[in-house]
Amino acid sequence: MRWIEQRLELIETVQQMNRLGINQGTSGNASIRVEGGYLITPSGMAYEALEPSDIVEMSMDGQATGDRKPSSEWRFHQDLLAARPEFGAIVHTHGKGVMSIACHRRDIPPFHYMIAVAGGMTIRCADYATFGTQELSDSVLKAMTDRKACLLANHGLLAAGKILAEALSLAVEVETLCETYWRALQIGDPVILTDAEMQAVVEQFNKGYGMPPKDQM
Ligand code: 13P
Ligand code: ZN
Repeated sequence: MRWIEQRLELIETVQQMNRLGINQGTSGNASIRVEGGYLITPSGMAYEALEPSDIVEMSMDGQATGDRKPSSEWRFHQDLLAARPEFGAIVHTHGKGVMSIACHRRDIPPFHYMIAVAGGMTIRCADYATFGTQELSDSVLKAMTDRKACLLANHGLLAAGKILAEALSLAVEVETLCETYWRALQIGDPVILTDAEMQAVVEQFNKGYGMPPKDQM
């Protein structure tokens, strides 16, 4: 049963990326941790047509099982899942907002307090490297230090979470932040929050944002 559920969840996530307008076509990819490795979307296949059997099962040493070729970005999915045990799922998108900022190879500064949703005072932009390479994976891992999301120079976004829903919702948030940053830049330089102002936000997030479970109210 779990075999099909996890695959369906992965397919639903990549289809949602396109429906939500944070990705298009066969760009982007997603993965989910499973026992002994991870499941990843196949390379270059239309999301609407994906079947559970198209999902590729990978071992943590990069061996693929299945009929399809794994996403060309399996290296950064694998390296991040190996290095960061707190992550159970990763999404990678090519949204217009994230791509606009990433093409300037800019870290996103704390122009809005929600920058802290990715874990720190900025959202970094990983150094440019050709898609699908180990070099790209290495720069992604560096940019992800103490973070749950980063931009990929001249490319897109990576967002991670405990579960796919969390990674997807972070991707939507960062896409919105980039669109907003781009808009704010149209009328001058937005006011950047100070370290102290951002520290206070990070602390609020660390205390737990949102409603506590009913039994703790
Ligand atoms: P794949 O179709 O191989 O996953 O590649 C899409 C992509 O976004 C490469 O960076
Ligand atoms: Zn990509």
